[in-house]
Amino acid sequence: MTETDVVIIGAGMGGLTTAAYLARAGLTVRVFEQHTLPGGYISSFIRDGFTFPAGPTCFGSNGIIFPILKELGLEGKRHFARTSYQMSWGPHDVPFLTPQQTCRDLAIHFPGEASNLQRYFRWVRIGIDGFRAMLESGLMFGENVATTTIRLGLRHPLFLWAMAIARRQTNRSLHERYFKDALLRQMLNQLGYPVMAGQNTLGMWGAYFDDTWVPVGGMQGLANALMRFVHEHGGQVHLGKRVSRIRVEDRAAVGVDLADGTFVPARVVVTAADLYHTFFDLIGREHLLPILTNKLDAAVPSESIFAVFLGLRDSPRLETELQRFQGSHIWFTCANGEYIQLVLLSKDDPSIAPPGKHALFIGRLSPYEEWETLKSDNEAYQARKLTVTRRLIEQAGEFLPGLSEHIEVQEAASPLTYERYTSNWRAGSAGWNWDPQRSTHIDFSKDVTLGNFFAVGHYVHSPGGVPTAMITAWYIAREILKRK
Ligand SMILES: Cc1cc2nc3c(=O)[nH]c(=O)nc-3n(C[C@H](O)[C@H](O)[C@H](O)COP(=O)(O)OP(=O)(O)OC[C@H]3O[C@@H](n4cnc5c(N)ncnc54)[C@H](O)[C@@H]3O)c2cc1C
Repeated sequence: MTETDVVIIGAGMGGLTTAAYLARAGLTVRVFEQHTLPGGYISSFIRDGFTFPAGPTCFGSNGIIFPILKELGLEGKRHFARTSYQMSWGPHDVPFLTPQQTCRDLAIHFPGEASNLQRYFRWVRIGIDGFRAMLESGLMFGENVATTTIRLGLRHPLFLWAMAIARRQTNRSLHERYFKDALLRQMLNQLGYPVMAGQNTLGMWGAYFDDTWVPVGGMQGLANALMRFVHEHGGQVHLGKRVSRIRVEDRAAVGVDLADGTFVPARVVVTAADLYHTFFDLIGREHLLPILTNKLDAAVPSESIFAVFLGLRDSPRLETELQRFQGSHIWFTCANGEYIQLVLLSKDDPSIAPPGKHALFIGRLSPYEEWETLKSDNEAYQARKLTVTRRLIEQAGEFLPGLSEHIEVQEAASPLTYERYTSNWRAGSAGWNWDPQRSTHIDFSKDVTLGNFFAVGHYVHSPGGVPTAMITAWYIAREILKRK
């Protein structure tokens, strides 16, 4: 086989974005994806006319996704619908429209916390105003970092104060600092990942209030558009092709071995697959520095998820009950204190369900350890999957009474399903763990001394997510082109 300029492992958003930039610049690019669909977590599956997102139900652009799509000329190729959030418990609902309104509505339910809520949401408002300005400034793309930072500081002086409050804090420590009410604290802690840095808490609120989106027609359309772009620019995306080894000679990557035995020589190898799998399975400990293997041995992935996907038949009673969704995304605290996420997917994008019908996602965090032991016992695994699915439908029924009577289509994904389709280590949903105490930071300039090798995707920078996958791709594509 002739040598390729760049081989990319994995056609998730990280791999496809890298391939798009490199193919557009004229390099010969080949992407190998183990799954039969492109997109990684950004893919969809169809059941009886309902289109469900396999991974995220929406994402924030974070000043990254839309600028990249624009730069590639893809912005007009997909339409995006805005999504919206809400917190619910018992019969109570608080939509997240603006910081002021959320503060007011929560104060009605927690009058003893009214002044604390005002302080907290003042911090949120100032923080997210600064965040928005920062994201719009192009800072994420390294544009005029010094002048942009000074300008931001001058225009949003209180942003520095908001960031100082967030510094060295987590969502939990901030909520403990601001509030006394146990239920309010618990419900705020449940938003986003269980433990995340104070800055990410601000980022999360910013996304909830004005930056969460879903591609109309389903997530898969976005991945397909990127893959088409790669093909149109002469690159190749090979689906159903698993890479089994990154071949290393004289401390440099020289190509990849595919699971079917083919060797693909390449001048540069980019991994867009998860880094634990990349380093330990594809490269091998013998090629790694102890500093890196120590970090990987101590690494903790982000939380894994159990999801239920329901297609709901239309009925006047259901229509009335669905009115409770003021936002499409609900963080719901159940009667026993557990929480689930409910997403009325067809509220944001009716085209994903047959006319008059509805698509619903129910999700909750589900520790990988609880599933790991079932890998070798399919019967026990299926039984547990069904039990957890029924339990989630029951809990969702607290929010939507009579839900189970309207189910036409039912599917579920356990952490083992996510792991099987994406190879993400221990089904980590968004890279390494978001808890700043447990997160893994790989310094590629010091920890990895392998030539002709690069990494992109949600493990390269913490915290992970779709914007991280794409911005890491943007930087690495530039780096490869610069070297060329
Ligand atoms: C339920 C859920 C909700 C989420 N919600 C959000 C959200 O709201 N916002 C947000 O920003 N992010 C969210 N995320 C995370 C987000 O989806 C991911 O961080 C992002 O899509 C990761 O992209 P990636 O390209 O880095 O990796 P992936 O999407 O994991 O892609 C990696 C690809 O590499 C392939 N691969 C792996 N090993 C090999 C191999 N050996 N050979 C060939 N191919 C290989 C895999 O099959 C996969 O296609 C969520 C994830 C889940 C599961």
